[in-house]
Amino acid sequence: MSKAIIEDIYLDNSATTIPLPEVINMVQWSMNNYYNPSAIYKQAIQISKSIQQVREDLFQSIGGQKGKVIFTSGGTESINTALKNGVKKGKKIISTAYEHDATLKTLDKLEKEGYQVILIKPREFAVQAQDILDQVDESTAMVSLMHVNNETGHMLDIETIGKEIKKINPQTLFHVDGVQSYMKMDVNVEKAKIDFLSLSGHKIHGIKGTGALYARYPEKLQPLIFGGGQEIGLRSGTENVPGILALGKAVELGIQNQSQNREKLQHLKSYFVKRLKEIDDIVINSPENWASHIINVSFLGVPSEIMLHTLESKGIYVSSGSACSSKKKWSHVLESLRLKDEVKSSAIRFSFSHFNTDEEIHRTIYELREATKDIRKITKYKGKNTRAK
Ligand code: PLP
Repeated sequence: MSKAIIEDIYLDNSATTIPLPEVINMVQWSMNNYYNPSAIYKQAIQISKSIQQVREDLFQSIGGQKGKVIFTSGGTESINTALKNGVKKGKKIISTAYEHDATLKTLDKLEKEGYQVILIKPREFAVQAQDILDQVDESTAMVSLMHVNNETGHMLDIETIGKEIKKINPQTLFHVDGVQSYMKMDVNVEKAKIDFLSLSGHKIHGIKGTGALYARYPEKLQPLIFGGGQEIGLRSGTENVPGILALGKAVELGIQNQSQNREKLQHLKSYFVKRLKEIDDIVINSPENWASHIINVSFLGVPSEIMLHTLESKGIYVSSGSACSSKKKWSHVLESLRLKDEVKSSAIRFSFSHFNTDEEIHRTIYELREATKDIRKITKYKGKNTRAK
C-alpha cells in the first residue's frame, strides 16, 4: 500500500523564508559567471554593473533619494554597522526593550563604552510611540527602532515617529530595523526620515548571509571591516556576488508581486484568527495593530515546547519565539510584555508567507485543536473556558 504523502507546513517564516526558484537560479548563474567584480575585463565589468543595478533597485524600493545602499551579510551586520559606527561617543541612544538581540547586544556593548542607552518598555503589548518621543532631546544621538517586532508582529508607525524625532532634534539619527517589514509593507526612507535602514535577504525569499544597510550619510560611518575598499570603503572584501544577485532577484520579484503577496498575507491572517476561535483558552499576545505575517498565541496549559514538537511530529513547523532565543525558557520579548508565566510558557509564534494556503491553515487548526485537548489532559489543565475575542 502506498503511503499518502502529506506536505510539510512551514509557518516559521519570521525565522527564515523559502528561497524562490528564480533566486536559486541566480546563485547557479553566478557560479558559472564567477569573475571578481573588481577586475577590469569585460565579464567582470558586467558583474560589477549587475551589482550596481541591484544597489539601485534596492535604493528605489525604499524610496531613496539621498545616501547609499551597502551590501552586508544580513540584518545583524547592518544593525552593528549603523549602531556601532554611526553615533558619536558619550551620547544618548534610545531604543526599545524588545528589539532583536542584534540591536540589544550591540547597545549593551555601547553602554559599557560610555554611551547612555535608554530602552523603552512596552505597555499594553507594545511600545508606545509617545514613550519613545518623550525621551528625545538635544543630547539624543540616535533612535533605533524595529519596524515590525519579530515575535509579536507589532508595527510601529515609523513615519510619524521619524518626523516627530526630527522636529524635536534634527541632529538625532534614526535607525530602523526593517528586517521583518521590508516587502511586507511600505518602507520609505524619505517619508519616515530614516538615516539608516537594516535589511536582510533571507527574510524576503532570498538566501542566508545576505543583506543591506541604507545610509543617508555613508561618509559619516566607520567601517567594521577594513581592506580593499569595496562597498565605498565601508565593507572591504570581495563581494558576495551570488548573494547580492540573489538579493536583487528577491527584491525584483517581491516588488513585482507585492500587492498580491500582501493581500494573501492579510487573508491568511484573518482566516487564521477566525479559525483560532475554535480553540478554548487561548491568549493572543500580538497587539491590535500587528503585521499580517506574524501572530503570537498562547495555548494555556500547553507548554510551548510540547506543542512545538507535537506539531513537528505532524509536519507543521512553528516556533516559540525568535530563532535566536529558542534555547531560552522564554524570550526577552515576551518577558518585556509582562505577561503571566502561564501565558509566556505556552506561547507559540506563527509566521506566514504568501506561499501558505487556506488548506494549510485548516490542517494546522485541526492539529492545534487535537494537540491542545491531548496535552491539557496530561498537564491536568483545569481550563478557563475563554474563547479568543
Ligand atoms: N532584526 C530582526 C527584527 C530579525 O527578525 C532578525 C532575524 O531574525 C534580525 C534582525 C537579524 O537578521 P539576520 O538573520 O539577517 O542577521
